[in-house]
Amino acid sequence: MNFDFTEDQEQIRRSVREFAEGEIAPHVREWDEQQKFPVELVPKLAEQGFMGVIFPEEYGGAGMGYVEYVSIIEELSRVDGSVGISVAAHNSLCSNHIYMFGTEEQKQKFLVPLARGEKLGAWGLTEPGAGSDASGTRTTATRREGGWVVNGAKNFITHAINGDTCVAMASTDRPMRSKGITAFIFEKGMKGFAPGKKEDKLGLRASETASIVLEDCFVPDGNQLGAEGLGFIQSMKILDGGRISIADLALGIAQGAYESAVRYSKERQQFGKPISEFQAIQFKLADMATQIDAARLLTYRAAAMKDAGRKTTKESSMAKLFASEISVKVSEEAIQIHGGYGYTKDYPPEKYWRDSKLCTIGEGTSEIQRLIIAKQILSSV
Ligand SMILES: Cc1cc2nc3c(=O)[nH]c(=O)nc-3n(C[C@H](O)[C@H](O)[C@H](O)COP(=O)(O)OP(=O)(O)OC[C@H]3O[C@@H](n4cnc5c(N)ncnc54)[C@H](O)[C@@H]3O)c2cc1C
Repeated sequence: MNFDFTEDQEQIRRSVREFAEGEIAPHVREWDEQQKFPVELVPKLAEQGFMGVIFPEEYGGAGMGYVEYVSIIEELSRVDGSVGISVAAHNSLCSNHIYMFGTEEQKQKFLVPLARGEKLGAWGLTEPGAGSDASGTRTTATRREGGWVVNGAKNFITHAINGDTCVAMASTDRPMRSKGITAFIFEKGMKGFAPGKKEDKLGLRASETASIVLEDCFVPDGNQLGAEGLGFIQSMKILDGGRISIADLALGIAQGAYESAVRYSKERQQFGKPISEFQAIQFKLADMATQIDAARLLTYRAAAMKDAGRKTTKESSMAKLFASEISVKVSEEAIQIHGGYGYTKDYPPEKYWRDSKLCTIGEGTSEIQRLIIAKQILSSV
């Protein structure tokens, strides 16, 4: 067992930190307040290879593994979770669905520009009536000559407005429920494919979340992703990887909140000394550091297993569940350590706390993660 990063991995982490501090940190507050998705950042992320981290170079990617991917999302989210979730949704949901289940032709046509960051990806599983129960997909795809006609709606979709390529699930056989769902690739500009309402969110406000409306949208056969009826099972496999990235998102947010609390506790004086000298504050910091470390170990274990080609359903859910729950706790404690100032927008913890909450909801709520973990445990004994 080896808990050390290689020199290359350390170098990647350092360079992501430098990038995040230089290119993202100065704008975090403005983007959050304006709820502005920073499209201008995408080419800079692409230049660093962050838009195609986990894909081979032959498909325009950076050819890295999940361990490197985790450290990139963690470092970006330490500065701004909105950027972290954008990179995560683009890589491990949309692009990875095409990488894992697309034909060679689809990979060349759709994955290469996504992995190079020339196009932005979105992924649509959730619907107004189908959230935790994704098998309840009501969007329908009906056979027509040369393709399908899709009708329905997807909601809470990251990059629904600025995304160029969207992998979305539709039912091709409603009575079959989960076994009747098929994945399709939609492209910006297709007739009948349009963004709907943009959400006004609690946190991750610079990340774009909106619905997608599908009205008699014709999708050619060439855009069907994998065989008919396999869209649901493909999605569950995609989420096994995606949940590792939500764990990293949570981890990065917790790390950022913790660092701001440590800094502040050394600066803030009360009763004639820095508050870091009070045991009550020291115990909070000790608990926060321990929780972050435990979340990091779970997350990197899941990533290392993924790199080793192992099934990670249980480990991804454990990492996602634990990291997201502690991220909310750690960022709340960071507010407490900042006292009244933590309740204002002059200090970073309130934003970390708002951002952290998504991690207990997106890509399956904490309740759903517990159901998955329990199912995995009980089916293995
Ligand atoms: C910012 C943001 C970005 C997102 N990005 C995307 C995206 O890019 N693509 C995408 O497809 N989706 C996306 N989502 C959707 C997200 O994955 C869903 O919100 C999530 O899966 C929960 O579904 P729901 O909101 O419909 O909640 P519901 O399923 O309605 O859940 C409501 C409550 O009931 C609980 N519950 C439901 N079923 C059970 C059960 N069987 N047992 C116990 N408790 C249960 C839940 O845990 C929750 O507490 C995003 C959401 C947000 C907020």
